[in-house]
Amino acid sequence: MNASLKSVAAEPEAQRRARVDLAACHRLAAHFGFNEGIDNHLTVLVPGFTDRFYLAPFGLHWSEVKASDLLILDLAGRLVSGQGLVEPTAKYIHAPVHRLSPQGNCVLHTHMPYATALGMLENPRLEMAVQSALMFHDDIAYDCNYNGLAHDESEGERLALALGSKSALLMGNHGALVVGRTLPQAFERLYFLERAAQAQVLALSTGRPLRLIPDSVIKRAFAQMEGGSAVGGFEREELHFDALKRMLDRAGMDYAS
Ligand SMILES: [Zn+2]
Repeated sequence: MNASLKSVAAEPEAQRRARVDLAACHRLAAHFGFNEGIDNHLTVLVPGFTDRFYLAPFGLHWSEVKASDLLILDLAGRLVSGQGLVEPTAKYIHAPVHRLSPQGNCVLHTHMPYATALGMLENPRLEMAVQSALMFHDDIAYDCNYNGLAHDESEGERLALALGSKSALLMGNHGALVVGRTLPQAFERLYFLERAAQAQVLALSTGRPLRLIPDSVIKRAFAQMEGGSAVGGFEREELHFDALKRMLDRAGMDYAS
């Protein structure tokens, strides 16, 4: 039997963990208000494969996604295993980004409110005016050529090109897309992109000008962040994601089932 067609229980442990983490990712994104209705997608490559990814079936609210619900699609957007609806933009945004972005093992696209609000501005730049923005100082791209809904592969390819080698794409008049080598890394970026955008929108709402951090300080602080990305041998993003999963566990959520 093809590995991707085995039952969830029979999958290797890494694949089982990836399912649980992606289900948790949906619950957490809903918890933080990153969802919009039942739209948008959060996907990750199936461990051991470079040409297939997990996707939640369309119609589920992110707050109810379970590990066993997840479908497997190939990079042509064809359903490989699982049962459920596949919404077109899942195929047309996520498959091309997984295919074209070497750093895109995990692809998270949301219409989270503050990053989306920034993307509505004539100048959508995430300003280096708050510490939480600094991780993106050289790692965010902007797409200011909104082109309607992604109803064919060319839109996903265009977005992957706009993303380039960066890990975050602010999609003007639309939302945000982040990628990561791992799911915890991508979620960390999604979380801090929204937090930094929130701080910027709140600061601008006072009507007073932003005080930008000087370049020399940005570079020093970024180097400090890089140097401190692990604590006691543990990656911060992994510790953060584990802590967030424990929060779900304490609330009795059934995402791992
Ligand atoms: Zn979208």
